[in-house]
Amino acid sequence: MFNPRIEINIKKLISNTKQIVGLAAQQKVEIIGVTKGVCADLRVAQAMLTGGVKGLADSRLQNLRYLRKNLKLTTESLLLLRIPMLSEAKAVVEQADISLNSELKVIAALNEAAAKLGKKHKVILMVDIGDRREGVMPAKLLSVVKELKNFAYIELLGLGSNLACYGGVLPSAKNMQALVNFSRSAEKELERALPLISGGNSSSLPQLKKGELLAEINQLRIGETILLGRNIVDDTPFGDTYQDAFLLSAEVIELKEKGAEPRGERGENAFGEQQEIKKRGVRKRAILAVGRQDIDVEGLIPLQEGVKVEGASSDHLLLDVSDYVSQLKIGDVLKFQLNYSALLRAMTSPYVNKIYC
Ligand SMILES: *Cc1c(COP(=O)(O)O)cnc(C)c1O
Repeated sequence: MFNPRIEINIKKLISNTKQIVGLAAQQKVEIIGVTKGVCADLRVAQAMLTGGVKGLADSRLQNLRYLRKNLKLTTESLLLLRIPMLSEAKAVVEQADISLNSELKVIAALNEAAAKLGKKHKVILMVDIGDRREGVMPAKLLSVVKELKNFAYIELLGLGSNLACYGGVLPSAKNMQALVNFSRSAEKELERALPLISGGNSSSLPQLKKGELLAEINQLRIGETILLGRNIVDDTPFGDTYQDAFLLSAEVIELKEKGAEPRGERGENAFGEQQEIKKRGVRKRAILAVGRQDIDVEGLIPLQEGVKVEGASSDHLLLDVSDYVSQLKIGDVLKFQLNYSALLRAMTSPYVNKIYC
């Protein structure tokens, strides 16, 4: 059992998933579990399935391939989140049952690859309703939908949108209504009903909880709130979910009283940053054996009171433990809750030991 390690509580993850899936089911919304925050960890993915998600989604094709190889899945359960690279079209058709798309050139390549493989590929067409990450611009939507009719091996499942990722635009009655209206126009153009409107990510859950999600929205793709129990709109716990399904432990390797301010002529640190350091006299400092290669320092929340994160280099985490009540010693382990960014990096780092409980 080497350190640092991340303890993953599977029961808490199942419980978080069940809560969200249950809430969504009342409003006939299906939940797709997003595994990209945990590098498609198999037991976490299985916990999501046990909790009742309809399918699994990831942004990396390698992760989908890994899930397909190692889990018992029904057909139609793997969704590729990141709009595909042109160069991976064939692999997308092989590995993903459904992909999110916004470029006709790529969809044409998917169509060609699907024709060669003799199977249909399902697509959700992303519309940019304001966040300015991926998505067809609304003014171009109908011409794109019209083009899709030429692709015999592409099955359009419906429209989708993604908010709160780049521009920080939140879901609202207005932008969701716009998405629903676009879907109606697309249906008219195609002269058939589209089965799905994939409304968004964890940022849509507060709306769902308040009963304010439009009835037409029938799919959400959820990662963060399942994993960390966080309402990402106002940064509070979401319902009765757990926020500590993941805990990081790291070991104390140095413990000394040191002047808080560096001594000597100062340039930039190893990451090209000018550190601003307040003068606070002599402090009790601990170094833990974990660093930026394994975590996002900003996203560490110490469980022990009186422990303060000061900063980190690639492999060293610096803490001020002057106000920590108990006696720390070399070899002790301190625990932290993680935000999404710290979790993502910890789960991706081969130097972090993954422990399940
Ligand atoms: C990451 C991602 C999600 C999941 O977002 P969470 O905030 O973790 O729920 C959903 N959709 C797309 C397109 C994504 O890239």
